[in-house]
This record gives sequence, structure tokens and C-alpha cells, in this order.
Amino acid sequence: MSDPVSSASSSLVSSAYQQALEVISSVEPRIADATRQELADQRASLKLIASENYASPAVLMTMGTWFSDKYAEGTIGHRFYAGCQNVDTVESIAAEHARELFGAEYAYVQPHSGIDANLTAYWAILAHRVEGPWLENAGVKNMNDLSEADWEKLRADLGNQRLLGMSLDAGGHLTHGFRPNISGKMFHQNQYGTDPETGLLDYDALRAKAKEFKPLILVAGYSAYPRRVNFAKMREIADEVGATLMVDMAHFAGLVAGKVFTGDEDPVPHAHVVTSTSHKSLRGPRGGFILATEDYSASVDRGCPMVLGGPLSHVMAAKAVAFAEARQDSFRGYAQQIADNAKSLADGFLSRGANLVTGGTDNHIVLLDVTSFGLTGRQAESALLDAGVVTNRNSVPADPNGAWYTSGIRLGTPALTTRGFGHDEFDRVAELIVHVLQNTQPGTTKAGEPSKASYVLADGVADKVKDASAELLDKNPLYPGLNL
Ligand SMILES: *Cc1c(COP(=O)(O)O)cnc(C)c1O
Repeated sequence: MSDPVSSASSSLVSSAYQQALEVISSVEPRIADATRQELADQRASLKLIASENYASPAVLMTMGTWFSDKYAEGTIGHRFYAGCQNVDTVESIAAEHARELFGAEYAYVQPHSGIDANLTAYWAILAHRVEGPWLENAGVKNMNDLSEADWEKLRADLGNQRLLGMSLDAGGHLTHGFRPNISGKMFHQNQYGTDPETGLLDYDALRAKAKEFKPLILVAGYSAYPRRVNFAKMREIADEVGATLMVDMAHFAGLVAGKVFTGDEDPVPHAHVVTSTSHKSLRGPRGGFILATEDYSASVDRGCPMVLGGPLSHVMAAKAVAFAEARQDSFRGYAQQIADNAKSLADGFLSRGANLVTGGTDNHIVLLDVTSFGLTGRQAESALLDAGVVTNRNSVPADPNGAWYTSGIRLGTPALTTRGFGHDEFDRVAELIVHVLQNTQPGTTKAGEPSKASYVLADGVADKVKDASAELLDKNPLYPGLNL
């Protein structure tokens, strides 16, 4: 089976989108124009944003239907609205594919995004671990039957639980207990980092911290850590302190689905609850989902009305299509190529003398430390964008430039791998990026001080790099059959 992104029947896809854009144009032509322009821009740029990808035409088209018009609060077969039989069908198929794809006991496909999945999972775990036993102790079945005083006590108990997650500057996500995020406010939070010397997770330090802090929830998973995680070890630590292990695989779900991460590196057999997005390396529609053991399934199923409103039925349908694609053999080849390409990109940097956090990668992320070029992450990100290379700045461990300017650039391979890039193309990408950074100088502020934001990119470099990128991009077209 060939790749569903590049092989969709070109004449069908072309005429479908041409006609759809005509229909949109008849109401608001500027939106049709912007939609065309977005395709042109995505086609013309080296997209190295680690969280982005290109979904297949089948996935994209599934989102544009009348399932968007239906309300379906509740669960499969138990809805608060009438006439949900087709939503039931769609949600059942999506959940079945998710269970089969990941070997999970239970799947919940309603969360609208990764953050919604995490919030839902947090409250599900609180309901399972705190509210359930609490109500049992109080001898009532339903919290509506609690006295006002008891309800106050339960609420205080729910809000006083401890959460231990990976810190943002070590590569964790905002929702893993970062103070300004709601996860850092609803929980009594603490964070673990990476070894400042190696940039690697230090499981012994994590175990010691967990033993001291005794979290109810231990969160594993990351958005900007270029290495694999041993989830068997994470579970051991969680068990030692009586914590629920929640793994947020938002970034690397595609590598789990494609069996690049197996055994101790596969979160599903080890975690109590796994949360994810569907649109990053998994290459589905923009959305979230949750996998859980049977034990947690009833609590997760309460996502609506606990945290969520009406599910996005059109997106659940598109998740089903994406999960079906990920169950095809070709997806395993795609996932392995993502990891192989990240190695090629990392080697391309190392062979040209650049520094990488942790010295390399064994997932889909490469974290380039740009301090050796005399730049901040912000300057590097902007200069690269001028040259048509789309990345995002990112903190490095113990970042001297803080979380806004940063000292790193995060690069990911899922999107360009979808376009067909392989070893040689990623080596060339590394060469082009190094060329841009070597030709960028930090600027100065109005007062003549060194600036962390302004920069000067040498004349002609942006155009030269754009031409070189265009050659790579033309050889590996995005949606090759789509004539727009
Ligand atoms: C991207 C990401 C999320 C959030 O996903 P959204 O769909 O943007 O809400 C959550 N957790 C991790 C680890 C992520 O990388």
C-alpha cells in the first residue's frame, strides 16, 4: 500500500478542492484566497516544526462535512441529544482503530486537542483516585448528595493533590505542571528536569524526587526532548510511590503507532493513562485522544460533561480515517523513516561542528544549541525564516537566555518525511541551516547594546538558501496530484 498523503487519486482530489474553493469563494473570496495561499506557502517552505505534519487528503476531506453540525454530548449509545446514531458509528470506529493500533484496553477519542486530552485525563484520575474513595468513605454515591461542608472538604482535597511532571525548559509541556498553566495551579506541582551536563533524563534523580514529593500523578512525555524514554522504569517509579503514571505521547504517537518505540519505550503497556494529539507525528486531524487501562475507563468516559462539551464529530470521523491509515503497513515504513531522518539531520549538524542538546537524537526531534554561532534562539529562528526555513526557538537546559529569547532551535522530521525527504535531503537541510547561522550576526539595540532579538543576515544568503531549498522541495512535492 503506498503512502496515503502522496498517492490519493490526483484528478479526484484536484477537482474536489477546486470546486470546494469555488463554493467558499462565492461567499467570502478572501478566505478562499487565503486557503490557496496557505497551500502555496506550505509547499514552498522547509517545514521543520517538530509538532507539524501534512495530513492525507482523505483525512482533510473527512473534516469538511455535516458531522460538524451535530451535537452529541455523552458517550457512545448514551447521548444527551437525539439522533446520534451516525455519530455513534463514527466514534465507535475511531475508538476501535485506536485500541487496535496501540494495543490499548480502552480509547476515548472525544478530546478536541492535546490540552483537552490532558485536562480530561487529570480530572479522570482525580475522580478515580480521590473523588471515588472519598464518596465511598462518606457513604454517598453521588456528590450532589454531599452536604455543603463535605463538598467544600472534597473540593479542597481534589485541589491539593500533587503532580510531578517534566519541566518546560527540559522539554516538558506547559500542561505538565508549568506554573502559569492551569495544571500548575490546579495541582500542588513539582517538576523534574534533565542532567545539566548531558541533557539526558536522570532516572535516579527522578526516583529520589518522586520519593520525597510523593505525587498522586507522575507525568512522562515531552515536546522538546530529543531522546527516547524508558516507560517501564517510569512505571516502576510511579509504583514505588503509589502514583498514577500518565504518559503524554502527543509528540511521538506516530513513532508508537509505527512500532519504532516498542518494549520499554512503548508507553501503552506501562502507563495507566496515555494522552495524545492526533495531528503531530501521527499525521491525523487536529485533535486529541486518551488511551487507558480498563480500570480507568469509566472515569475517562466522563470527559463530557466533566471537562468537555459536544464532541467534534467531523474530527472524530477524521481520526478514524487517520488511525486506519496508521494501521497500514506503509505507516511503519514512514515512522521508521522519521527516526532515520532525524539521525541524518543530527549527523549533518555534528559533522559540520554544530552542538546538539544530548549530542544527538533517537526520536524525531533535533535540538540545535545555537550559542556557538553567537546567536539566541530568537535570532536564529528569524534568520532561518527569512531563508524559508520554518523552525521554532526552544530553551536548552539551564538556558542562559531564558524562555523568551532561548538558546536553541527545535527541529523535527515528520513533515518533510511525509514529503519524501530521506538521508541526502536532510543532510543538505543541515548544511543550509548551518550556512544561514554562520552568516547571521547579532544586531544591536538603539542604545548600542548587544540585542537578543535583532540580527543581520549577510546579503544574498536568504535567496541562495531559498533556491537550494526549492530544488529539494520541487523534487519532493506536497500533495503532488493536487492541482491548485
Ligand atoms: C502539542 C502538545 C500538547 C498540546 O496539544 P494541542 O493540540 O496543541 O492542545 C500537549 N502535550 C504535549 C506533550 C504536546 O507536545
